[in-house]
Amino acid sequence: MSEIQDISSPVGVPVDEDQSNKTKILCERCSSVILLPNKAKHTKKEFYLPHMKKKTDTSSPGDGETVEDFWVVDDMFTFENVGFSNTVDGIKYLICADCEIGPVGFHDTNDKKAFFIAHCRIKYDG
Ligand SMILES: [Zn+2]
Repeated sequence: MSEIQDISSPVGVPVDEDQSNKTKILCERCSSVILLPNKAKHTKKEFYLPHMKKKTDTSSPGDGETVEDFWVVDDMFTFENVGFSNTVDGIKYLICADCEIGPVGFHDTNDKKAFFIAHCRIKYDG
C-alpha cells in the first residue's frame, strides 16, 4: 500500500483526509487536552504571536514570531480546555486553562466564528 503525501500539509501536522486533526491536541507543557480528534480544521494563515510564557511571568519583553499553521474551530465550546487572556487591539490570546502557558492561539473579536490554535505551540497525542 502506497501512502500519498499531501504536500500542502507541513511535516508534523497530523491531518485527516478532511483536513481535521487526527489526534488529540495537548498543551505542550502540562499535556492538558485542548482539542479532541476531528474537532478542528488545519488552515494556513500568517499571524504574529508573542512568544510563550506563563501569564504571571512579566520578565521577558513582548517579542514573538510569525506563525503559519493553525487549527481553527468555529465555537469556543469545542475546546476541552482553554483560557483567554485580556483583549489587545481586538485580539484575545488563547492560553492553557490548566498551566496558563500561552499564547497557544488567538481569537479575533471581529470574527466570532474563528478560534485559532497554533500548530507550533501545542503537541499531539501519539
Ligand atoms: Zn498546560
